[in-house]
Amino acid sequence: MNIVFATQNQNKAKEIQKLLPTKLVVKTLSEIGCHEDIPETAPNLEGNASLKSLYVAQKFDMNCFADDTGLEIEALNGEPGVYSARYAGDQKDSNDNMDLVLEKLKDESNRKAQFRTVISLRMNGQEVLFEGIVKGNIRSERSGVEGFGYDPIFEPEGFDVTFAEMSIEDKNKISHRGKAVQKLIAYLNNV
Ligand code: IMP
Repeated sequence: MNIVFATQNQNKAKEIQKLLPTKLVVKTLSEIGCHEDIPETAPNLEGNASLKSLYVAQKFDMNCFADDTGLEIEALNGEPGVYSARYAGDQKDSNDNMDLVLEKLKDESNRKAQFRTVISLRMNGQEVLFEGIVKGNIRSERSGVEGFGYDPIFEPEGFDVTFAEMSIEDKNKISHRGKAVQKLIAYLNNV
């Protein structure tokens, strides 16, 4: 069965395909011929995930899920949160975003943060939401080259490496997206 993952991010699609049963084939937006920028104008992660899955379900009439993820830093009152992709500006540059976080936290001893993912699944006209959270700390400098986004500065709780120093497989086992996807899989295995 084909299921559309409403993303242009091949990294995320690869991560998720590894977690799904092989009978479920994940198609990205470009693979279904959707090249437009889907608006992400909601004030929270739930709203954005929901907007994206609705857009695809309505326009392409396909089963679909969409995720939205934010890095929520305690000392910054939950920032960058829903603005994680464009925290340092519309260029959506991960290095600029990490520089801004490190600058804002440079005199801060509370380094606690969490990644939170919300998935909106639309199947046969019905929506279901799933959430995954991983707690951790923001390092004072980058470490590692794997992954993407804020991975080089995020150290998950209970580990002494950053996400960018883990393989995709190891990250998936404990990550925000991994946990949300496990809930999605459990649900899809029962429909
Ligand atoms: P999105 O809206 O889910 O694409 O994610 C928003 C922002 O969070 C983007 O800037 C991503 O780089 C970042 N992000 C999402 N997932 C991860 C992750 O697993 N690790 C690091 N950064 C992430």
